[in-house]
Amino acid sequence: IWNEACKQLKGILSGDIYDRWIAVIQCVDISDTTMRLAVANDFYKDWLEENYFPMIRKAVMVVSGKEINISLEVDSSCFDIAKEEAEPEQHAPISIPGLGFGGNKKPTHNLNPNYTFDSYVVGPANQFAHAASMAAANSPSRTYNPLFIYGGVGLGKTHLMQAIGNHVASKKPRAKICYITCETFLNEYIDALQNNNVAAFRKRYRKIDMLMIDDIQFLDGKARIQEEFFHTFNTLFESHKQIVLTSDRTPSEMAGLAPRLISRFEWGLVTELGKPDVETRTAILRKKAELLNLKIDNTLLDYLAERISSNVRSLEGALIRVASFMSLTNQKVDVEKVESLLHDLLDKESQASISVDIIQRTVAEYFDLRPSDLTGKKRTKDIAWPRQIAMHLSRSMTTQSFPVIGEQFSRNHATILYANEQVAGKAKEDRGLQQTIAILKDKVNKNCAKAI
Ligand code: ADP
Ligand code: MG
Repeated sequence: IWNEACKQLKGILSGDIYDRWIAVIQCVDISDTTMRLAVANDFYKDWLEENYFPMIRKAVMVVSGKEINISLEVDSSCFDIAKEEAEPEQHAPISIPGLGFGGNKKPTHNLNPNYTFDSYVVGPANQFAHAASMAAANSPSRTYNPLFIYGGVGLGKTHLMQAIGNHVASKKPRAKICYITCETFLNEYIDALQNNNVAAFRKRYRKIDMLMIDDIQFLDGKARIQEEFFHTFNTLFESHKQIVLTSDRTPSEMAGLAPRLISRFEWGLVTELGKPDVETRTAILRKKAELLNLKIDNTLLDYLAERISSNVRSLEGALIRVASFMSLTNQKVDVEKVESLLHDLLDKESQASISVDIIQRTVAEYFDLRPSDLTGKKRTKDIAWPRQIAMHLSRSMTTQSFPVIGEQFSRNHATILYANEQVAGKAKEDRGLQQTIAILKDKVNKNCAKAI
């Protein structure tokens, strides 16, 4: 079973992560209901429990077809295996141009050459972050240090950060630029600890001219690596080296981050990447189509930009899907075809944009009430029933959880759960109610489209 589960996990995780974290686990014992796994030391145990345990449990459940109790223990006799497996040659440390480690003479760049300022489209939601990045790239450490860029998934943090790196590298080919994800940084540190190589690790990072760490929110709640990073940060900062960080949240929103790091992160500039508006989305699509040499009608690009607003990565995914369909089938694609090609993406989009607030307003309008009636305390039937319907719609039309919906109705989660079941149960027998719900759903969708 364990081997089968490993195969599952191999399919889900990236090769590097699999080799590093899963391949090192030993299955020491298995019975009908329990499975005992062992790893070489506490690091592996803590790390796995913190990050990959739910995934492991799921994989085992899928393979065995039942719930199995999994325990993870430390067994130092696994150590030799762990050592062997954790550092095969392919895990040569990433090389940093000019530092010459990894035994590589040729300066290998780990920056993506496509992520440049040229290929980055500027709009109202990102112009400030863009300007700050340009400033940092033009005079490293003289403007904003550190530069801290935060924003949601797929909004261009990595692109912007690497654009800084590419810009500096093109102007100063000898500069030692290090771009690294926070996860890799942490993995290297753990390797160093394991091999008693921490001194070398420190030296390496403290020789850098510009340090860019992507997805720094990964530090949240990990005290030991925070401590290490704190010292690296100070050394670089004091010798006037540029530091760039990205995160999915602001420094102060990282509850498990040491206060002294929070304050360091706020020393320079903290800048947000927001969601691009429709004009920017259109411009991004046109630019990507041009870069990828795709021949797609502008009307189609406009349609995609209009419909997909949650993030740029989905937008790009949609473009590529449409383009590969066109090249594979040699068919012309119209809006209808796009709808069927992308229906899963488009569904997600509309779900993401429907809010409890819009539902409340729509339902209130339909029943001739005020939205505040739905969140208020009155329990008369003419208000209580529409309120329950609004709760039911909030549950079925959004991806929000019961507690979150509850908050927006000033109720607890049990009330929402109850209302949802009430309305759904009644609707099964009551055709009039079915119709009302259908009409309301339609109105909510229309109001959402208007709001975008
Ligand atoms: P994040 O790191 O914030 O999750 P990425 O930087 O990986 O997001 O961006 C996702 C994709 O969207 C990348 O392919 C990137 O090139 C593209 N992208 C995001 N914002 C822009 C933009 N303003 N102009 C051009 N491409 C963008
Ligand atoms: Mg990123």
